[in-house]
Amino acid sequence: MTPNGRPAAAESAAPAGSATTASTAPPAAFGPGSVVVPPPGDPATFPALQAEIRELAREHNAIVLSHSYERPEIQDVADHVGDSLRLSRIAASAPESTIVFCGVSFMAETAKILSPDKRVLLPDLAAGCSLADSITVEQLRGWKAEHRGAVVVSYVNTSAAVKAESDYCCTSSNARAVIDAIPADRRILFLPDMFLGLWLQRVTGRKLTIWLGECHVHAGIKPSDVAEWHAREPGAELLIHPECGCTSQVIEIAGDDAAFGGKPAHILSTEGMVTYAEQSPADTFLIATETGILHRLEQKAPGKRFVPVNREAVCQYMKLTTLEKVRDSLRLGIHEIDVPADVAAKARLALERMIAIG
Ligand code: SF4
Repeated sequence: MTPNGRPAAAESAAPAGSATTASTAPPAAFGPGSVVVPPPGDPATFPALQAEIRELAREHNAIVLSHSYERPEIQDVADHVGDSLRLSRIAASAPESTIVFCGVSFMAETAKILSPDKRVLLPDLAAGCSLADSITVEQLRGWKAEHRGAVVVSYVNTSAAVKAESDYCCTSSNARAVIDAIPADRRILFLPDMFLGLWLQRVTGRKLTIWLGECHVHAGIKPSDVAEWHAREPGAELLIHPECGCTSQVIEIAGDDAAFGGKPAHILSTEGMVTYAEQSPADTFLIATETGILHRLEQKAPGKRFVPVNREAVCQYMKLTTLEKVRDSLRLGIHEIDVPADVAAKARLALERMIAIG
């Protein structure tokens, strides 16, 4: 993975469009070319591999966690599926001595920070994150030096070293609550996701200084994708993750629970999408986030129809994890994640604040 290297940050007064325009991000594409995703496995092999993984997990006193963007067969073999916040909480309270984290590296690092005495395994060490790569710890130190006294709020999609330089972490589930918890007279530096930052500005009414980072997958979901599906599915409800490139333009039109071309639009975290779909009387939903969530939605709200507004919105990093890699990681005890004790101690403070605010 190559760091994206954003040299500048958006000031709070900058309108959404100018912040986006000012980004020095590489052209949005669906995935770094260096990541080679294994082809889909043979479904006929899944039951045996899943049984082997369950047996190995029992033998090694391990819990298997899966992010909602993982392949369906990985979600199906996991003890728990969810977003970063849910999995962070489960990892911290799990009685098992080993955590197999089917997700990306910053998530496994987070589990290790919160559970330093446990063994944390990441089935493929190449599973990174373009958003986490948006900012290095050196860049953050420089940014803090320009804004002395500011409170630093980091999205959980950051390296352990960046978390260690932060006052608070947050996920899309609790970012709004975290911003609300900070005294109104304090300046806030928000990083690294500009779309989430712009949405937070809107819904909290706070002026934030926002780092111009982005996730290549979510930035690739465009307003035109939403408009196209709006025309095709006029009766569907629209669920949008706040990292999507279309979100800032949606909220520019109508705010949080917005109207997009006359269609109700709901800005929700991945966990929020699941809860909303379970409870809504609607039967069709347009989904604007990584397509791995579709499997979970279909399981949690059977009989309802979920349509991705962009079928190409696939995170290659998440799809690196296969059943064979999960099995081998458990069987051989390989790909263990470690975080230096001094970094972990500082990062833990920011993460514990995130979990406490929940
Ligand atoms: S979808 Fe984006 S933010 Fe999530 S892990 Fe992939 S690159 Fe990172």
